[in-house]
Amino acid sequence: MTPMDLVPSWYAPSFTAIWKCPAPSKVNAFAWQLLHDRIPTRQDLYRRRIIGGGGDTSCVLCGEVSESSAHLFIYCDVALKVWVGVFEWLDIPFSLPHNLFSILNHLIQTGGKKLRKGLCMIWNATVWSLWRRWNSVMFDNGRRDTADVLDEIKVLTWKWWLSQSEVAHSLLYEWRVQPKLCVENCLEFD
Ligand SMILES: [Zn+2]
Repeated sequence: MTPMDLVPSWYAPSFTAIWKCPAPSKVNAFAWQLLHDRIPTRQDLYRRRIIGGGGDTSCVLCGEVSESSAHLFIYCDVALKVWVGVFEWLDIPFSLPHNLFSILNHLIQTGGKKLRKGLCMIWNATVWSLWRRWNSVMFDNGRRDTADVLDEIKVLTWKWWLSQSEVAHSLLYEWRVQPKLCVENCLEFD
């Protein structure tokens, strides 16, 4: 049995997109775990008795709600601001999603093959950056606010793109202001 056999058929396109996504393999593996709800959030750590009785399960980023992966990666005010920023950057209308699959499915059904690949890469970078911020707050006393996360996502996706193909460095400016145009006209993936 392959991992794909465990996935309901209507989710299969999301996983296929992730495996073809031009992000580092550790990021794709993280996304796969996240979509299977296997990320060790505080709620999960409590359920598995890694956080003891009376342990704090509140969200590491906002401190207000019990931390499930749906909260941490979508509904948390901190995460929502990041998604709204990403969609504004992409110039795609944002509506509150049902779950992480619906955000990804929305993106990978937008436009042609190149654009879908680019948008999948950006979805991947967004969840990865939120997770990196969670780790930084949890273990390194890092900043809780995510004002700089959007810029991290832009730079990260830029680096992933560079690692995949010969791209003029001067395009970073274009990438920051017109990502969709870049994806459609300049982006080359192996
Ligand atoms: Zn929160």
